[in-house]
Amino acid sequence: MAENAYVEISAEEAAKISGVNENQVDRVKFREAIEALAAKNEFQVNPDKEKVSMLIDGIFNNEQNHGLKYCPCRLIAKDFVEDLKLVCPCNFRIHETYKDKEDGECWCGLFVRR
Ligand code: SF4
Repeated sequence: MAENAYVEISAEEAAKISGVNENQVDRVKFREAIEALAAKNEFQVNPDKEKVSMLIDGIFNNEQNHGLKYCPCRLIAKDFVEDLKLVCPCNFRIHETYKDKEDGECWCGLFVRR
């Protein structure tokens, strides 16, 4: 037997062994994307990590059940064009919960004003 033998495994097997599945990687990328969006703006991702994790679960459940990453706090109308307004992140800066408020936040509280 060779001393430094190793076995090459596929990315799928590596993910299974490490406990990281495709869905989790997507969540990591989504989280990075919303952090990057917030970094360039006057709002931040909510510092309440538990809440953010719960909201991201809801967003991904919506994607699984309805096809797109719809807002976890709103009901889709099943009108594709209309429901595009509910894809996260939405244009929450025009909404009552955010605009003109010092402590404004998006409907769900995923994003909060700095
Ligand atoms: S309200 Fe917040 S969580 Fe919902 S879609 Fe808009 S940005 Fe995303």
